[in-house]
Amino acid sequence: MFVYLDNSATTKVAPEVVEIMAKTMTEDFGNPSSLHRMGLKAEKIMENARSLLASAIGASSDEIYFTSCGTESNTTAIRSAWNSMKRRGRRVITTLAEHSSVLRNVEYLERDSADAIYLPVKSDCSFDMDAFREALSEDTVLVSVMHANNEVGTIFPIAEIADELRTVAKDAILHTDAIQSFTKADCNVGRIKVDVMSLSGHKFHASKGVGALYIRRGLQLPALLLGGNQESGFRSGTENLPAIAGFGEAVRLAERAGAERVAHLAGVKDYLKGLILNNIADVRVNTPEDSLPSILNISFLGCRGEVLLHSLEAEGIYVSTGSACSSRSRGSHVLSAMGLSQEEIEGAIRFSFSEDNSLAQMDYVADKLRAAVMSQRKLRRTFSSRKA
Ligand code: PLP
Repeated sequence: MFVYLDNSATTKVAPEVVEIMAKTMTEDFGNPSSLHRMGLKAEKIMENARSLLASAIGASSDEIYFTSCGTESNTTAIRSAWNSMKRRGRRVITTLAEHSSVLRNVEYLERDSADAIYLPVKSDCSFDMDAFREALSEDTVLVSVMHANNEVGTIFPIAEIADELRTVAKDAILHTDAIQSFTKADCNVGRIKVDVMSLSGHKFHASKGVGALYIRRGLQLPALLLGGNQESGFRSGTENLPAIAGFGEAVRLAERAGAERVAHLAGVKDYLKGLILNNIADVRVNTPEDSLPSILNISFLGCRGEVLLHSLEAEGIYVSTGSACSSRSRGSHVLSAMGLSQEEIEGAIRFSFSEDNSLAQMDYVADKLRAAVMSQRKLRRTFSSRKA
C-alpha cells in the first residue's frame, strides 16, 4: 500500500492544477507584462488567481503579491518591514517555534542592530501571552509570529496578539507565517488582524515555486527585488504564470471543499491518534487538542524517529521526523523549545494528512507502526543488555 503522510512537507499537485498549469505553459504562455493579446490573456489569468486568493482571505486583489515560495514571503516580510521601521524603534519579537525562514531572518536583523526577542513556548507549544506582554515595549516595530506551527500543528492566537500589540505599539507591523494553516484554519486577515501574511502554494496542492504575501493596504513596504516593476513594483521579476494560475486553482478547490475537507482531515488524524494510543505503549502526543487538523506529532519512547521513518518507508508509508527543512540538522528546535527530553525529541514522528488519506490507510499505518516500534525497542533492549 502507498500512504503519503508528509503533506506538511509538500502535497501532491491536484489534477485540476496540473491541467491549468499545462495550459499556461503550452497555450497561454505570454508574459503578463507584454502589451499584445497574449500578454493580456496572461495578465487576466494572473489577476484571476490573485482575486481568488484575495477573496479566500478577505483581502483585496491589490493587497496580494506573488512570490516564489514561503521562504521568500517570510524573508521579504521581515526584511522589508524592518527596513521601513528601523528608524522608529529597534525591538523585534518572534518565537522560538518559528520556521527557520523566520528565525534566520530575525537573526539577520540582529546584525543590523535589531533588539530581537525570541519568546518561549509552553510545553504543548502554545503561545506564552505573559512572556509576550513582558517583551512588548513602545519601540517594538515588528512582531512575527506564526499562525500554526509546522511540526506540531499548534495554532497561535494571532488576533489576541494583535490586540495586545496595538495597545503598546500601535504602529508596529504584525506579520504571520500562515503557510501551514492556510486552507486548514481561518486565515481571514480581518479576523486575525494581521498586517502582513505569508503563504506557500505547495502546501495546499498547488505546485512548488510559488508563494504569496498579503500586505495590508496603506502599509508602504520597500521592495527587495528591483528591476522590471512587476507586482506593482514590489517584487520585480517575470511572474511564474503557470504556478500562479495553479495557485489560484488550488485556492478555488480548497474553497469549494471548505469545511468538509477540514472535517475529513480531522477525522483521519483523530482516528490514527486513537489507534496509536490504544495499541502502542510509551508514547507522548506532542500535538495539542486544538490544533491544525492536518498535523499529528508523536514521540515513541525508546525509538529513533529516523529509524522508524525508514522502517515505515519499506512498507510504502511516508512520514517525517519534523520539518523537512530541519530534518537534516540535529533534533527539532520546536520540540526542544517545548522542553521535551532528548529521548522524546529523538523518537518524534510527524504524520501530516491530506484529503487523499483514508481510515483504511490509517489501519494499515498503525499496524506497521506498531510492528516497527516493537522491533526497534526489542533490538535496543537486546543491544543494551549485551553491552551491560
Ligand atoms: N514556514 C512554514 C511554517 C513552513 O512549514 C514552511 C515549509 O515547510 C516554510 C515556511 C517555507 O516554505 P517554502 O518551502 O515554500 O519555502
